[in-house]
Amino acid sequence: MDHFLYKGGVLHAEDVPVAEIAAQVGTPFYLYSTATLERHFKLLDEALCGMEHLVCYAMKAASNQAILKTLAALGAGMDVVSGGEYLRAKAAGVPGDKIVFSGVGKTEGEMRLALEGGVRQFNVESEPEMEVLSAVAVSMGLRAPITVRVNPDVDAKTHAKIATGKSENKFGIPIARARDVYAQAAALPGLEVIGIDVHIGSQLTDLEPFRQAYRKVAELTEILRADGHDIRRLDLGGGLGIPYTQSNEAPPLPTDYGAMISEELGHLGCEVEIEPGRLIAGNAGIMVSQVIYVKSGEGRDFLILDGAMNDLIRPAMYDAHHDIVPVVQPAPGTEQQPYDIVGPVCESGDTFAKQRMMPPLKAGDLVAFRGAGAYGAVMSSEYNTRALIPEVLVHQHQFAVIRARPTFDEMINRDTIPEWL
Ligand SMILES: *Cc1c(COP(=O)(O)O)cnc(C)c1O
Repeated sequence: MDHFLYKGGVLHAEDVPVAEIAAQVGTPFYLYSTATLERHFKLLDEALCGMEHLVCYAMKAASNQAILKTLAALGAGMDVVSGGEYLRAKAAGVPGDKIVFSGVGKTEGEMRLALEGGVRQFNVESEPEMEVLSAVAVSMGLRAPITVRVNPDVDAKTHAKIATGKSENKFGIPIARARDVYAQAAALPGLEVIGIDVHIGSQLTDLEPFRQAYRKVAELTEILRADGHDIRRLDLGGGLGIPYTQSNEAPPLPTDYGAMISEELGHLGCEVEIEPGRLIAGNAGIMVSQVIYVKSGEGRDFLILDGAMNDLIRPAMYDAHHDIVPVVQPAPGTEQQPYDIVGPVCESGDTFAKQRMMPPLKAGDLVAFRGAGAYGAVMSSEYNTRALIPEVLVHQHQFAVIRARPTFDEMINRDTIPEWL
């Protein structure tokens, strides 16, 4: 459930009509709902309430500081995957001991940054990374708390570009080699082994792959403890999927996910962390765009929008489906017609939907892409010298621009011209 609903025939974000924001901010823009962000966080937090736990929001999904502050105020930790994200989390006021540092290619500079500013743990992904992290920590007179990300070799049954838990993926160390790798970690002077990490992919719509992975983590916990490691924290990754259409089968509920975690891992007495990104932000955001032209083509009509693939790349990159709804609710019984819905960018890939049934629309009408809160604004670019679109946050009857649209002067003046030109 989210808080983007029709009231009196017009789409609202919480208590604010979307068209009112469009009139002030201009289109296209991203629009987030505070109540939805909070609701999703609380559902997950409560799903784990029987166990010592921390929900670390995977901020790569949507990293605006206003979103981070909204979640941090509820007690969220953060999962970061770069030095930039680490600094952004700190800037939003998240304490270091609630920041988990993930990622397969952390640099020495990033490790130093996090050790200086404080970090809950590093999730390390390879032996070379362990050695570098140990050396950096020793040079600072510290020991870095770590988990090792294990690759459990389970099929997450999701899109190939977001599956991470099969042996052919670049992530983690094969679980079969875990004992050796943990022995090496324990022997390094700059590391303190505290737990195990696993993350098998994104947009999982079935609990079974999670269960298989967590069962392997439970077995590994017992084995590593018998080897003398103090395994006290299990980071179970993110990846719980969300409904992108009104019609498709519902993904697992947070309560069922929490119950499964407790079933598979509760007996171990470990503190549990999860790293949800999409589940918190995905349906807490929409992208609002305006129809520029309706163009009649060879046997099909095109809706040409002012939003494009550079603003929301998921359809082009992952063949992702977004429900696209008119901001003014069609009258009951309005006949729908098929449209190809496209942006203005000079690529055929700039297509949001083909033969999508929509009520009749005309130039100037507003549409909203639902489920655009995660992997939307963060993946946008200025391709075609199109400005990064603004982000807006709604809170009940109030709204605020939380990232302004840059001016063309600002964009153009970022280039610097060498003196020989
Ligand atoms: C991307 C990622 C997540 C978040 O995945 P979602 O599908 O958005 O929940 C969590 N942990 C790690 C290590 C990731 O790479």
